Amino acid sequence: MSADIDVVIVGAGAAGIAAARRLAPTMLSVLLIEATARVGGRASTCNIANMPLDLGCEWLHSADRNHWTRLAEASGYAIDQRDPAWVSQYRDLGFTQTEQSAASQAFAAWSARLMSAPPPSDCAADALDPDGEWNAFIEAMSGFISGAAPNRLSAKDFVAYDEASTDNNWRAPAGYGALIASSLPRPIDLRLSTPVESIELDRKGVKLETPAGAIRARTALLTVSTAALAGGAIKLPSCLEAWRRAAALLPLGRNEKAFLEIVGDSPFEPETHALGNPCDPRTGSYFIRPFGRPVIECFLGGEGAGIIEDAGPAAGFEYAADQLVALFGSSVRRRLHPLIATCWGRTTFIGGAYSYALPGHAAERAVLARPFEQRIFFAGEATHPHDFSTAHGAYHSGFRAAEEVLAALAPGQL
Ligand SMILES: Cc1cc2nc3c(=O)[nH]c(=O)nc-3n(C[C@H](O)[C@H](O)[C@H](O)COP(=O)(O)OP(=O)(O)OC[C@H]3O[C@@H](n4cnc5c(N)ncnc54)[C@H](O)[C@@H]3O)c2cc1C
Repeated sequence: MSADIDVVIVGAGAAGIAAARRLAPTMLSVLLIEATARVGGRASTCNIANMPLDLGCEWLHSADRNHWTRLAEASGYAIDQRDPAWVSQYRDLGFTQTEQSAASQAFAAWSARLMSAPPPSDCAADALDPDGEWNAFIEAMSGFISGAAPNRLSAKDFVAYDEASTDNNWRAPAGYGALIASSLPRPIDLRLSTPVESIELDRKGVKLETPAGAIRARTALLTVSTAALAGGAIKLPSCLEAWRRAAALLPLGRNEKAFLEIVGDSPFEPETHALGNPCDPRTGSYFIRPFGRPVIECFLGGEGAGIIEDAGPAAGFEYAADQLVALFGSSVRRRLHPLIATCWGRTTFIGGAYSYALPGHAAERAVLARPFEQRIFFAGEATHPHDFSTAHGAYHSGFRAAEEVLAALAPGQL
């Protein structure tokens, strides 16, 4: 069988869609294959109780230089540019003004030390003040930002993201996931529910085994998560061991969401926020009535996300309701109805939230991003040098890898 396809893009998340957008208008033949029955991957807007809820990415981070912002504008998606409420504590409940300012100063001092006096170990926990009163708060923040505690994080990697971020965080009321899924270029040869099980190199290019049969192509562009790549779900040839190892050193953090519907009258004001307990590293971050909708979004990070991943969604709802009752009083319990919870950490073909680098391994992002012999190309959020962990980083990585494919196969089309 000859390799009649020029490029197979594996994975139709933000990176795969971006690669497809770059390659579809060229003369190359392109096939996009996706293991699941939908496009978007970790970008997923779920319409439930008449609300478009983002189960994965939600905030257009660095929105002023985020390519999805430009695509939203071009395709008529509204963008909400209001500052996020997450820096404020609803009526200072359980977290006084003095405490809020001490906690944010402690976090800022830790971030500054990571930048100006990075620990020789490259372990972000080694920049903590050993007697710091707000270390649990910093751990909670690190869980939200990276999905892991500081003792798991490379200081260099953390700083690379921080320095590049523009701190503009906007939203798409119709859903970030919906925006990304609707950006799939058309026409495109797309095969859903087609997991790649193994990749082999042959004389002419690559051979990908799927349950629906083998696909031969001149090149493959892999966009699957680092958990999927390192976890062995795709059997890789031994020559890609350095890429598999890099993926393992860039694990996915743990982040989950639990949405609680607000029923009837309640004290909750729209577009507000509260931390459940700023002294608990597992604490939920509660975004109250986004866009005025009758819902509270509980965001859990690091160990907190383990509540859902290890004990199931009911445990997550109970934890969130208990924290909200502790803040707002027992009368709110009957107003809160579990709506939907994620379990990204146990979702087949994803396996977590977003990548972080283990101490000493920030450089693995560049290792993972390298093409192999002009035949196998790599994209996905984890391959971006500083916008990793985001949907816009995924976009740029897909675009970059598509350009590499073009340079290899059709140099005139760059
Ligand atoms: C809870 C949560 C909150 C987040 N919040 C934000 C946020 O506010 N802002 C932000 O910018 N980012 C956020 N992110 C991160 C963002 O969603 C991701 O960085 C981005 O969507 C990753 O895109 P990707 O294309 O690299 O990977 P993915 O979305 O993982 O896409 C890879 C695709 O490959 C498919 N695949 C896997 N294995 C195979 C196989 N064997 N064969 C074929 N296909 C396969 C998968 O099904 C998937 O569709 C969040 C993520 C989570 C989980």
